Amino acid sequence: MWVSEPDFLEEFCQQVAKAIEAQFSSTLIPVFNLTGTVIHTNLGRSSLPAEAVDSMVTAATHATNLEYDLLSGKRGDRDSHLERAICEMTGAEAATVVNNNAAAVLLVLNTLALNKEVIISRGELVEIGGAFRIPDVMESAYCTLREIGTTNRTHLKDYAAAINSDTGLLMKVHTSNYEIRGFTNSVSESDLSELSKEKGIPFVSDLGSGSLVDLRQFNLPYEPTVKDTIDMGADLVTFSGDKLLGGPQAGIIVGKRELIEKVKNNPLKRALRVDKITLAALLAVINIYKDPDRLESRLPMLADLARPVAGIEEVAAKVIAAVSERLAGRALVTVQACKSQIGSGALPLDLMESRGLCITPLAEKGKTDDALQRLSLAFRALPKPVIGRISDGRLLFDLRCLRDVDGFLGQLDSLAG
Ligand SMILES: *Cc1c(COP(=O)(O)O)cnc(C)c1O
Repeated sequence: MWVSEPDFLEEFCQQVAKAIEAQFSSTLIPVFNLTGTVIHTNLGRSSLPAEAVDSMVTAATHATNLEYDLLSGKRGDRDSHLERAICEMTGAEAATVVNNNAAAVLLVLNTLALNKEVIISRGELVEIGGAFRIPDVMESAYCTLREIGTTNRTHLKDYAAAINSDTGLLMKVHTSNYEIRGFTNSVSESDLSELSKEKGIPFVSDLGSGSLVDLRQFNLPYEPTVKDTIDMGADLVTFSGDKLLGGPQAGIIVGKRELIEKVKNNPLKRALRVDKITLAALLAVINIYKDPDRLESRLPMLADLARPVAGIEEVAAKVIAAVSERLAGRALVTVQACKSQIGSGALPLDLMESRGLCITPLAEKGKTDDALQRLSLAFRALPKPVIGRISDGRLLFDLRCLRDVDGFLGQLDSLAG
């Protein structure tokens, strides 16, 4: 097509302006998580409460007593800020914090079982998305994996029989993202703890999500709490800061003081430690846990997980007309019952009743897939991308995590035709 000179110039200038803008803008941008997975690892897991954000800004913009003891005027310990509160909540003697739970597991293994054997059930050789696999982590920590039992059944006598002079650690890994059902047996924390005491070998439990409170009070399924695991006798427990805790990315290690001291003295600890901004956020979130009655209203992760269906239906009623109208002639939009999941591997089989926008493209037979992909791309190309999920030939936007309804509706006009 012939293009007139002024048209060409205008188009050219627009392209240049766009390219310059792109140079100065961040590639890390907020999105609407309408996937139905609340704690979505690829979408950054938990959103933080306002208190945590304030603390992060203060820590980021000021000098702080991060590792400075104000009383003695000497060097302090960055773990000291968190240790008391975490110990009070979990019943542990001591605690330390690192970059994430993968780092926590690596550090514990490397500290307590360097060049030694770690005994673990074949039913617990977990792979978490993104290449965290127990056998590989063992190797990276310079430990020898000593797998025992079978995939479905492992007994206390299997652990006992595997213990030898090279054993460094007994380990249990929470099978957070799968479940073995049917003819099964696994050994409880209390039994393993007894065996470990008898043999003088530490017992570590990697909880993965690790909740600080019993989630059943929010009508959510049971997930073992850190306190339960400590009470059952685990010497050390590792868990994530940004899964069911609802805080920033971090890995928390709690347990016996003597073992925590060893962990802290490992030179790797320095490489895996958290910065002041993460610490500030984690402290603020832990503080929120001191007031359990208001937990649900103050922790965004929990508010989303426990959001009542009636609240989600209200959101659906507010958005259905506008989305329908915007997609008129292109797709059919209905409100449908759907199921959300907790995410990040926690309780994969326990789904939560929810409501979603179900978008079915009006395409000729054989072109539905193509139309679906284009539609989903158009929503992902919005200024604040909308991420849903495709299933059964439809695009589904689970509305459980939609809070900013005005922001969602306000950008629909930018939806590509
Ligand atoms: C999620 C998980 C990890 C890894 O934790 P990150 O916070 O992702 O580093 C390790 N172990 C288990 C059992 C987990 O569920």
